[in-house]
Amino acid sequence: MEYPIPFSRYQEHMREGRFVGVRCGACGSVLFPPRAVCPECGGRAFSETELKGEGIIRTFTVIRVPPEGRKAPYTIVMVELSEGPYVLGNLLGLNPEEVGMELIGKRVLMKPQPVAGDLLLRGEFLVPGFYLV
Ligand SMILES: [Zn+2]
Repeated sequence: MEYPIPFSRYQEHMREGRFVGVRCGACGSVLFPPRAVCPECGGRAFSETELKGEGIIRTFTVIRVPPEGRKAPYTIVMVELSEGPYVLGNLLGLNPEEVGMELIGKRVLMKPQPVAGDLLLRGEFLVPGFYLV
């Protein structure tokens, strides 16, 4: 496929429990979620690539003042996936009041998580969530 994966197809993959990103045809960077333009080189030609959904927490934050419609506290982690991309998502299964610096460097598995849409994306959709291994 020589064009970016549309959001609807990305969501279809997520509903199947699959993580399908794109590999830049120009520089080889793996992008997840799929994007229209490669942030590394500006390339616009991609091929699909399936990711394992494994990664390492590089940093995190606990949200205590949530956006409208969300309940706090919750933990957002930045994960480096084994294929290279950095992905933000909710850390699931741990009390946000009990997390600390020991999270950094921990291995996680990615799992699609349903969220209600916001003002831009209406309706329910799936985003990456993470569990400690
Ligand atoms: Zn590129």
